[in-house]
Amino acid sequence: MGTDRAPGAPPAGEADRAALRARYRTERDKRLRPDGNEQYVEPTGRFAHLLEDPYTPRVERPPVRREVTVAVVGGGFSGLVTGARLAQAGIDDVWLLEGGGDVGGAWYWNRYPGAMCDTAAMVYLPLLEETGHMPTMKYTFAPEILDHARRIATAFGLYRRALLSTQVTALDWDEGAARWIVRTDRGDELRARFVTMGTGPLHRPKLPGIPGLETFGGHAFHTSRWDYATTGGDPSGAAMTGLADQRVGIIGTGATAVQCIPHLGASAAELFVFQRTPSSVDVRDNHPIDPEWFAGLRPGWQQEWLTNFAVLQTGGLTEEDLVHDGWTDISKRIRDRIMADLGRSGGEFGPEEFRRAYEECDDEKMDEIRARVDAVVEDPATAAALKPWYRQLCKRPCFHDEYLQTFNRPNVHLVDTDGRGVERIDRTGVVAAGRHVDLDCLVFASGFEVGTDYARRCGYETVGRDGVTLSQRWAGGMHSLHGMHVRGFPNLFVVGPSQGANLISNITHNLTEAATTIAAVLSHALDRGAEVVEVEAEAERAWVALLETAADSLIFGDPECTPGYYNNEGGPVGRRERLNGARYPEGPPAYFAYLDRWRSSGTFGGLEFHVPAAAPT
Ligand code: NDP
Repeated sequence: MGTDRAPGAPPAGEADRAALRARYRTERDKRLRPDGNEQYVEPTGRFAHLLEDPYTPRVERPPVRREVTVAVVGGGFSGLVTGARLAQAGIDDVWLLEGGGDVGGAWYWNRYPGAMCDTAAMVYLPLLEETGHMPTMKYTFAPEILDHARRIATAFGLYRRALLSTQVTALDWDEGAARWIVRTDRGDELRARFVTMGTGPLHRPKLPGIPGLETFGGHAFHTSRWDYATTGGDPSGAAMTGLADQRVGIIGTGATAVQCIPHLGASAAELFVFQRTPSSVDVRDNHPIDPEWFAGLRPGWQQEWLTNFAVLQTGGLTEEDLVHDGWTDISKRIRDRIMADLGRSGGEFGPEEFRRAYEECDDEKMDEIRARVDAVVEDPATAAALKPWYRQLCKRPCFHDEYLQTFNRPNVHLVDTDGRGVERIDRTGVVAAGRHVDLDCLVFASGFEVGTDYARRCGYETVGRDGVTLSQRWAGGMHSLHGMHVRGFPNLFVVGPSQGANLISNITHNLTEAATTIAAVLSHALDRGAEVVEVEAEAERAWVALLETAADSLIFGDPECTPGYYNNEGGPVGRRERLNGARYPEGPPAYFAYLDRWRSSGTFGGLEFHVPAAAPT
């Protein structure tokens, strides 16, 4: 910056920041759409099969009709860790219901080439010590994660009573019998004393509502149902020989696309990447885990790592950064900046100062991310188009060491739409950025439904006391105690991150804590002969009120945040959205400590345990 500023002009650093803010706002405004979430459509018609299971043939079986102690809905990590904790508590009559042909949830469905977890395996993969598994890499690929899901199911005997390729169609509370009636598309009818529900936050594929979507004449599929029969290759990343003479298009440049584009670029004759908003792509730096080092870890190491990661993620202090990656980097920077500012200000530090520290660290981080694009991508115009102009946490941060490099391949073409998105699809290809691109194959990396009705996303309705559905109960936003217990839905336990820690950088940590808690509550109920466990209305109200005292998410309503599913596509964020994404005000580590105290106390404050009066003898 020059030194000849006009009188009254802001200082140089401030002027740079003001220019950056202006750029962020301009880029955001380009992307705001009146249809928000409604821009996406459900896979219907020629795409209806995208909701089906391409991996496991359906085998007919007789319906199961019986009383069960626990029905666990969902065989992803939620259901698996719940089943595992119940087994550890000696509760065995646990029936796992899963729509897919095997356990694994997101990792069962998402088999696209290059699929991997962005969270370090040492903290992401649950129950590593309990199952004796050593992750092969710092960040593991999807096949290993799916194997680990199977390992948990095997180790805890969960396959014995698993109803796979079985979609729950209805969940009804029978008040007289104090049982949940679980019905499925196989004609099953389980009368369950308790039900746990782990149906996942990002589960149902969605498609962009682009005019002409149905008319495309070539092969088209969603990343969560990769069509290896057409492309060749396999989930381990083998060359996709079926694409060797194909012109392939991919719509979307989110976390999924960042992982599969390097593989498509390596296999397709020509690859066209249709971009609306570039992702922020930070360093991955993956490496194998050293077995000798791993063998030297002390018992209890995984809990220590989990706590360390959660503390660093939320601005806390630890002696060491055990995971040491892109997730902890940004939070450590903010923390260190706050500490330095605190030193300077003599201890005066409020929300304004916090926001400033956050913004300064983010500016620094995003400058590095944009500089990385310049350093890697050879063509200046392509590099310019791949730079993200928003704050890192406005969208899902990505980490990859081959994505940007892929754009240096002569067969890979970025079709940047400057925020407008693809205009039209027709029989022979795609119209974007004012030109028609002929394609043989089209991949939708367009994500999953977020924020639609709970029942629509799970595929069934949950009907509680007095015929009230969970969708009705939560029409104005989620209401619960600890994200698990819902008034009017006795003996039902929700397993998910919301209204608890809501630690999004490590979803499975939330699930394992919920599972440990549910196992403690159910053991207590069974020991006492309680037929009904339900949250008190006042406890639920007080929990929601507590959640509502939390500071707003930094990205809600931020005029510098580009639209995406983190901020309701830039649309209004009201009480419903805030409640659905609510977290314990003091942050994840404090929540996990609180929850541990709550369940260890043995009193389970806020829950009612109804023990039937002894029958007259
Ligand atoms: P996303 O919803 O994040 O991305 C959808 C993409 O489609 C965006 O780039 C979007 O653009 C683009 N898009 C939508 N409509 C159009 C259009 N009309 N024209 C052009 N582009 C369009 O889905 P993903 O599957 O990538 O990721 C979903 C989530 O899955 C992630 O956020 C993450 O939570 C999870 N995930 C986790 C991984 C892990 O490591 N654990 C790995 C991969 C995914 P725009 O950005 O402009 O909206």
